[in-house]
Amino acid sequence: MNEYDSNRILDLFKKIGYTQTENISETSCYVLNTCHIREKATDKVYDDVGRLKKKFRNKKKPILLVTGCVAQAEGEEMLKRESYIDGVFGPQSYHKIPKIMNKIEIEKRRVNSTEFDVIEKFDSLNLIKTKDSKTSSFLTIQEGCDKFCNFCVVPYTRGPEYSRSNHEIISEAKQLIDGGTKEITLLGQNVNAYNSKNFLLSDLICELNEMSGLERIRYTTSHPKDMTDDLIGAYKNCQKLMPLVHLPVQSGSSKILKLMNRKHNINDYFGTVKKLKDKNSSIKFSSDFIIGYPGETDEDFNLTLALLDKVDFINSYSFVFSPRPGTPASKLKIIDEKIAKKRLMIFQRKSDEIVKNYRQKLLDKKVEVLFENSLNKKEGEYFGRDKYANAVIVKNDQDLTGKIYDVKVTNFNQNTLFGEISL
Ligand code: SF4
Repeated sequence: MNEYDSNRILDLFKKIGYTQTENISETSCYVLNTCHIREKATDKVYDDVGRLKKKFRNKKKPILLVTGCVAQAEGEEMLKRESYIDGVFGPQSYHKIPKIMNKIEIEKRRVNSTEFDVIEKFDSLNLIKTKDSKTSSFLTIQEGCDKFCNFCVVPYTRGPEYSRSNHEIISEAKQLIDGGTKEITLLGQNVNAYNSKNFLLSDLICELNEMSGLERIRYTTSHPKDMTDDLIGAYKNCQKLMPLVHLPVQSGSSKILKLMNRKHNINDYFGTVKKLKDKNSSIKFSSDFIIGYPGETDEDFNLTLALLDKVDFINSYSFVFSPRPGTPASKLKIIDEKIAKKRLMIFQRKSDEIVKNYRQKLLDKKVEVLFENSLNKKEGEYFGRDKYANAVIVKNDQDLTGKIYDVKVTNFNQNTLFGEISL
């Protein structure tokens, strides 16, 4: 979502006469878009500011703006602590950039804008034509979260759930497709909670499915509780909806899921997986796991480990629990660091082995790839993704960008498949 937000921020800056530069030393305005999910996120912001100060030690200072969820969480504190920062604005306030810049440039004031103005934000953004038409583009349809998992900062930094109107979304999708987009990933912190006056995510997917020029639809990130029958049905009825479901489970133990306030237990999760597979047997899954959550015993951990044998996970994103300031879980007694790290190692060894076996089975098989860009024009290397979002690299004489081809897989590593076009 930060990538999507950064592109919208860029659109707004272009509107007031700025251009983008790759050369930091020549910048007159530096925007740091931050993520609070990362460990030590706040420290990283100050480290970055320190590096910027060093770069501009003997030069005129650029305007420095900090946005994103760290800015939302820290707000005024950030302005007090670091005088080099000119403005702090949260993810729901970036539509105010023209006003913010006016205050800084003309009125010479420092600005703190961290209100939750999500409706106003999207209303303003709808008036700006998106410039972000890549082969594969993001499109935010929903923001915020009402679930309040005990470990997560999102409800505090992105605010309550808000769904954009389907008309706005379809209009933005049209702009993207007209600009050359072939794949749209619908974004939301809780994307499958999308509900705009009873128009649901499944309705949106069905409408996008009918749009000519669009080849692929994805969405992220979903909550197991919101994986409703209509959405499961879309995996049968909408052929453009890709068969990879990212369904964060976090733990294999219902006891831990309850402590996390996840609002689903492990049997609910298995039930959803089964329903999806029954609708479309080609579906595979990816998931997020928190290892070493406060209260996790060996028995709980073994249940998480056992999950890997029960569900077709082709990618597992796992992290040791680390407390986020201000969340209920940050007040809990954390388990021994050595134990947590050992469990993570055991988990990742097993999940890596599963990924390796999965990729091994793809050797000499054909996968359908949408090519997104060239990695190295001279070498003729092109990057794309197959239906399951696996990264694929091939060498080819002709430009493959924006095209879909079958690729025969000839090699792989932990992150990427390599192959050749199969005509
Ligand atoms: S559902 Fe996702 S975004 Fe919402 S609180 Fe839980 S982990 Fe955070």
